[in-house]
Amino acid sequence: MARAKTEAGGRCHNDGALIGCQGAAVLLRGSVPLCQFCEDSSSSLKRLPVRRVRPADPLGDLRRLQQRRRRIEDELDQLVHAAYLAGHSYGEVGLVLGVSRQAVRQRHLRG
Ligand SMILES: [Zn+2]
Repeated sequence: MARAKTEAGGRCHNDGALIGCQGAAVLLRGSVPLCQFCEDSSSSLKRLPVRRVRPADPLGDLRRLQQRRRRIEDELDQLVHAAYLAGHSYGEVGLVLGVSRQAVRQRHLRG
């Protein structure tokens, strides 16, 4: 039972395997821990009962999520730069990211 308890407050069933997965589980669908993203995008599991779970280590989850955010932002910077070098405009990149071309320059092409 200790294991189930850890999973309940721990990582999403799809952690690391699904693009968009937020990692930290926020609920159990049956016995399957899911993050909000996977909960929102799951359809086959909808009939199972749901209960909210409290993260066992919210500060640790926050730290890990922040680390992932940094890695994702680094990757975004690299891809924005690559797109720019490939001849795409700031405007094109901004359309993909849902921000203005000025925001693309300010956020991703510093220095
Ligand atoms: Zn997930």
